Amino acid sequence: ESATLSQIGLAGLAVMGQNLALNIAEKGFPISVYNRTTSKVDETVDRAQREGGLPLFGQYSPKEFVLSIKKPRSIIILVKAGAPVDQTIAALATHMDPGDTIVDGGNEWYENTERRVSEASAKGLLYLGMGVSGGEDGARNGPSLMPGGSHTAYLNIHHILDKVAAQVDDGPCVTYIGEGGSGNFVKMVHNGIEYGDMQLISEAYDVLKNVGGLSNDELAEIFTEWNRGELESFLIEITSDIFRVEDEETGNGHLVDKILDKTGMKGTGKWTVQQAAELSIAAPTIAASLDSRYMSGLKEEREEASEIFKKEGLNEDINSVGTVDKKRLIDDVRQALYASKICSYAQGMNLLRAKSVEKGWNLNLGELARIWKGGCIIRAVFLDRIKQAYQRNSGLANLLVDPEFAREMVQRQAAWRRVVGLAIQKGISVPGMSASLQYFDTYRRGRLPANLVQAQRDYFGAHTYERIDLPGAFHTEWSKLA
Ligand code: NAP
Repeated sequence: ESATLSQIGLAGLAVMGQNLALNIAEKGFPISVYNRTTSKVDETVDRAQREGGLPLFGQYSPKEFVLSIKKPRSIIILVKAGAPVDQTIAALATHMDPGDTIVDGGNEWYENTERRVSEASAKGLLYLGMGVSGGEDGARNGPSLMPGGSHTAYLNIHHILDKVAAQVDDGPCVTYIGEGGSGNFVKMVHNGIEYGDMQLISEAYDVLKNVGGLSNDELAEIFTEWNRGELESFLIEITSDIFRVEDEETGNGHLVDKILDKTGMKGTGKWTVQQAAELSIAAPTIAASLDSRYMSGLKEEREEASEIFKKEGLNEDINSVGTVDKKRLIDDVRQALYASKICSYAQGMNLLRAKSVEKGWNLNLGELARIWKGGCIIRAVFLDRIKQAYQRNSGLANLLVDPEFAREMVQRQAAWRRVVGLAIQKGISVPGMSASLQYFDTYRRGRLPANLVQAQRDYFGAHTYERIDLPGAFHTEWSKLA
């Protein structure tokens, strides 16, 4: 009887669940699947047949589903985050036994996972909150997996996760992240970094198109070329593809030019910025990316403002800025993009470390960079360099001061400043690139004008100040001395 039981179960057969279930079955692990709306069960079973008779078994009730899995059971759920996860757990848990595990693979808020870890443990169940990145294609062919929560639960399924995850030169893109909601938190920051990467690439496009005058065909070539160097990454690759696609709807021009300039979002970027603020970690590039999405939403207002400022003659002013050397601009933008990206990753990594200290998660930043090398949306050759930086020095205060990255920042800073300066002169907004440059310039300066802010605070609020030459706290009656 036990020989016929599945090794694992998966509930929630929308885009992610269906593809992850097929991936698991394809790796040779018999899997039971279930979905509230049972037509999706049939759909998944059909796909498993079509894709080579994979060992995937449809179940039509929570009870049959749970009982079809070998003990100790591990059940992955991939439903909408929030209440649907609680409802799915409630439906399944009544049929589960102590020692069984629930793995939530959704983009869940980490505190919900922490609550469920303790609710599960009260019933003797184990719990993992597992970030899954890579979208539909990653889920089917190899995602980056970020499981956090019960270590025992991880050990029960790590032989499956190792096979299912994306494979890179130094192993599968999965590792045990840490306790509690750490897996979800790491996935959240991954998404925040993804916002930054996408924003920076869009700014590079804006400058090349609107300052350099590059056509879509030229942009496609440039991004293809960039994808052979230090910028090699999934997002650069898909960007080069995007510039090549013609508009089928009208048969006239490129599709990218027909797309409304309004960005959607689901909340992980906002959570990242909120967490950075809570932890007093500066994440200006990620915050600028979030703000840019908000401002993109003000399409009608922006069009009206554009008319108002055109009437006031703003365009004549910025268009009078001299012409640029196209070849040099392209090379400068490549360097500005790379340097800006390093700053954005430095912010994300420092956010992860601050949270790790607060929660006692003991996150291994180098290992996180490693599991992002494949499968996920931010996968990039450059992540191996980040891995190495933290391997050289796990206590590295900031990626920028790793000797290799420090050298690269200095090599690129002139080009970076030219791009940001030119964009500012031409009135092309580059919030991500300039936030990164400001982050760099603020971090690398031994003395900031914060002495004046501190004097002001002491002046109006008697907040006291420290001196550079004497120990202790000082207060001055500024108005009497002025
Ligand atoms: P989704 O659209 O977020 O959710 C649809 C699934 O949730 C369906 O299986 C649906 O069942 C189920 N569901 C909704 N409410 C439910 C309830 N009250 N009780 C039981 N089941 C309920 O699906 P998805 O896009 O595949 O994403 C799943 C999770 O992965 C989400 O947390 C998402 O944020 C995350 N994620 C998605 C992507 C992506 O590229 N799509 C990438 C990474 C992570 P019915 O069929 O019965 O309605």
